[in-house]
Amino acid sequence: MDIRVEQGCPQCGAPAEQGEDSRWLCCAYCGVRTLLSPAGGLFRYLLPPATNSAEPEDYYAVPYLRFKGMIFQVSSQGISHRLIDTTQVATELPGLPPSLGLRPQAMVLRPLSAAPDCRYLPQSRSPRAVLKKAIQVGGFSARPGGDLYHRAYIGESLSVIYLPLVRQAGRLLDGVSGLPLAAILPPAALPGQAAPFAPSWQLSHSAAICPHCGWDLEAAADDLVVHCAGCHRAWQLAGQGLRQVEWQLCAAAAGAVRYLPFWRIPVQIPALELSSFSDLVQRTNQPLVARSAWSRQPLQFWIPAMKLRPKLFLQLGRRLTLGQWRLPDPAEPHPAHRGGARSILAAGATENSEPYPVTLGAGEAGQAIKVLLAAMAASPRRIHPQLPRLWVQSGVPSLCYLPFEERGQDWVQLHCGVALAKSALRFGRLM
Ligand SMILES: [Zn+2]
Ligand SMILES: [Zn+2]
Repeated sequence: MDIRVEQGCPQCGAPAEQGEDSRWLCCAYCGVRTLLSPAGGLFRYLLPPATNSAEPEDYYAVPYLRFKGMIFQVSSQGISHRLIDTTQVATELPGLPPSLGLRPQAMVLRPLSAAPDCRYLPQSRSPRAVLKKAIQVGGFSARPGGDLYHRAYIGESLSVIYLPLVRQAGRLLDGVSGLPLAAILPPAALPGQAAPFAPSWQLSHSAAICPHCGWDLEAAADDLVVHCAGCHRAWQLAGQGLRQVEWQLCAAAAGAVRYLPFWRIPVQIPALELSSFSDLVQRTNQPLVARSAWSRQPLQFWIPAMKLRPKLFLQLGRRLTLGQWRLPDPAEPHPAHRGGARSILAAGATENSEPYPVTLGAGEAGQAIKVLLAAMAASPRRIHPQLPRLWVQSGVPSLCYLPFEERGQDWVQLHCGVALAKSALRFGRLM
């Protein structure tokens, strides 16, 4: 479930409410579009404290790590996956609620900003430790007796949500509900642990203009890649700014098609002597008659660049990676398409022919390589136990748009025949 955040327009100050995944703020009042980037890499939000008539003696903020995304596990029992949405305490302090439960979803959060009278407790648990805990709580650990070979977290959101605490008359209270905490910890111990606001937590705002040509960039709130209509370069969100990403398009001859984005990642796995498409077909025991050209075709993993349910994400990535020999060589955008991906089908375009936005970043897609390899293995026993020791050497990802044709309730990829239910895309956008 999405979290709502109240952002203020940095240009005119007008309030705007956005989803937690929103990287672009487009102000309804002044029309200015701004790129939001967390200086330290993580978005930080505050649960709004209740206004209390009594003056608190002290005011603290406790970090909770929030993860929303997919978890895949490869074990001796096969591949399992699930969607996870969790907010777990990230500081070692007895007496705190272990999770924020549904509270973040029920309130509108604020971006964390420096409050002079507030002190911040340290984030002493790593995201990995917090996720491991969430998996145990969710009963998703490998079953007893089963060997766990690989676990991948493909996150859509990783952020820190702070719970305000107040000290009043020597007691610690939950700053949102006003209820006393069953704190074992003497409130006097808190100041020693807390620290002031760190500048790297501040959210930074930058103008939505192309770093190359200065053109105004147009982006939907959740776009992770934005196309410049001026110079036709594509930019992916990276750290505090934008980094250029190579992109191609497998253009469809004609007809009503929809372009869906995929990350194309060159992969080599030395321990399996895996470097060409032919190697992949052989090592994973595909029932395909190998063609001689395949041994000269460098191996690429094709991974959906959009949020989908875990099962579909895996199916689509698996079928396109195995079907890559059917795809035409994706070209640099054809001169006729120089207007950028968004205007590929501008003439007579329908709403559906707009290229689908990139909602899953290249870094997250790269986390899926070993899971996809496991899913492709026709004889799991030959590949799965080897996963822990495999070193995946991956190259620079590029973005490729593939045409999908509308057939009834599905979008069908023109070259590989892979079908994707339209409802799956709608669900993925809301996920
Ligand atoms: Zn504004
Ligand atoms: Zn440009």
